[in-house]
Amino acid sequence: MTLTRKPMKRGTGFKRPTSRARVQNDVQIIPEIIPAVPRPAPRRAVLADCSGMATSVPKHPRAENAHLLRMARGKPCLIRSPICNYDAETTVACHGGGVENGKGMACKVSDALTCWGCSACNHYTDAYAGATKAQKRAAFMLGHLAQVCEWRAIAGSAAADPKDIAAARWALAHLNATPVGHMETL
Ligand SMILES: [Zn+2]
Repeated sequence: MTLTRKPMKRGTGFKRPTSRARVQNDVQIIPEIIPAVPRPAPRRAVLADCSGMATSVPKHPRAENAHLLRMARGKPCLIRSPICNYDAETTVACHGGGVENGKGMACKVSDALTCWGCSACNHYTDAYAGATKAQKRAAFMLGHLAQVCEWRAIAGSAAADPKDIAAARWALAHLNATPVGHMETL
């Protein structure tokens, strides 16, 4: 097979770039300095409404159970802090002073996060100046641990007041502390 080649016409050859074009090709392209992307602000719990506005809302609406609080009357103190008066007549349902449990966040602490405490221990876990925050928290947490055992005993007792049983079960359900394999009727 023979290829037929036509001779190139004059003036149609490869053109050398002009001096201006060469200068442009030699210019080093410096990428633009890209401004740092600002980090997003920490997210808050918000609820968007229909108008597009965002409204702050409490993260944990307070769980209330008045009967559970009334059950504390006449019960032994479970906190037993260094200033405990061991007087059951002064016992109330203590919410503790723990900001970490929700206090001060536009809602009170859940009633499930309470324990029977005498008036002295109630003061100890809240405003008492003679203990550190960690000591107060530890005293309340130990009291609450004992409280869960008390509520479990009430919830599983056939002799207990049905209202007490219902309140104890309410608290245990809120704490996800229902005894396993024990309360099938829940
Ligand atoms: Zn006490």
